[in-house]
Amino acid sequence: MGVTILIVEDEPRLAGILRDYLLQAGMRPHCIGNGLEVVDWVREHQPNLMLLDLMLPGKDGMEVCKEVRTFSDLPIIMVTARVEEIDRLLGLELGADDYICKPFSPREVVARVKAVLRRSAASNLTTPQGLTLDDTRYLARINGCKLDLTAIEYQLLSALARTPGRIFSRDQLMSKIYPDQRTVEDRTIDSHIKKLRKKLSVASAGSDLIHSVYGVGYKYERT
Ligand code: CA
Repeated sequence: MGVTILIVEDEPRLAGILRDYLLQAGMRPHCIGNGLEVVDWVREHQPNLMLLDLMLPGKDGMEVCKEVRTFSDLPIIMVTARVEEIDRLLGLELGADDYICKPFSPREVVARVKAVLRRSAASNLTTPQGLTLDDTRYLARINGCKLDLTAIEYQLLSALARTPGRIFSRDQLMSKIYPDQRTVEDRTIDSHIKKLRKKLSVASAGSDLIHSVYGVGYKYERT
């Protein structure tokens, strides 16, 4: 059972080469040559990763990337023919995970695909309570519903949820979010946690996933 890789590339020869290399690496590639067809296909098949060419007929890669990001967190590697384009793309914060410049060696593409898949597997977490976390994007969802968290709230939630049941003291939480040891008052953590709990509670119909332990600190529920 290999991972499904969507190759969006309008040059059939190039798409064919990528498909062959990904097949050889034990993955399941699928090729699409028109930007207009991508969003529906992604919705229906939920691939594990997408290689997305920038210049496409129908709809360009930037638009496709933005649209896919409105409903999916799948890893995206953008492919562009111009190296100077990459800086511009990075500045746009499209939410792509990596960039590859043409001409590329297919071997390198396979290596990058594997690296991005590994990174995304390591940074993603789904808890039994339906909470999903993506540390590469500071993205948290509960039962599919996106939580609108600040960076600090996200880091607190991630630290707690990755070790369910463990009680963290305020000091320990502070060192997780302020590794440079800046001095922060205890009540600062408390106020972040308070806001975080409120957002969680609203999004999950009142269930309280973070618990305060009197005189000690906080923990994420263990089930
Ligand atoms: Ca193209």
